[in-house]
Amino acid sequence: MKKKLLQELKEKLEKDKIMIEEELRRFAQQDKKIKGDWDTKYPKFNGGAGGQLLEEAADEVEEYVNLLPVEHSLELRLRDINLALEKIKKGKYGKCEKCKKNIEEERLKICPEARLCSKCQK
Ligand SMILES: [Zn+2]
Repeated sequence: MKKKLLQELKEKLEKDKIMIEEELRRFAQQDKKIKGDWDTKYPKFNGGAGGQLLEEAADEVEEYVNLLPVEHSLELRLRDINLALEKIKKGKYGKCEKCKKNIEEERLKICPEARLCSKCQK
C-alpha cells in the first residue's frame, strides 16, 4: 500500500474515532473496568414523594431501550477502528484476518476499519 493512502486512511480512522466517541459520550459512559466498553446511561428516577410521573419514567426507559442497539453498533465500530489504528502502528494494516491477503484498496477507502476482504466478508 502506498504511504500516501495509508496516511489518508489513518487520518480518516482518527477522525471517525473522535466522532464516535463524541456520539457515545452523549448518552453513554465509558466503562472504566473494561477497556473499550461503553454503557448507556440508565435513566435516573426521582423516587419518593412528588417524584416523576410514571408515564415520564416509562418514556425514559423506552429511550434507554432504543439507545442500546445504537450504543452497541457504535461500540463495535469503535473497537474495529482502534484495532485498525493498532495494526497501522505495527505495520500490519490492510491484511484480511481470514485469508491474509491484502484487502482491496477501494474497500478500505470506503470502510478503513474493515477487517476482512470483500470475499471473506460474504
Ligand atoms: Zn480474505
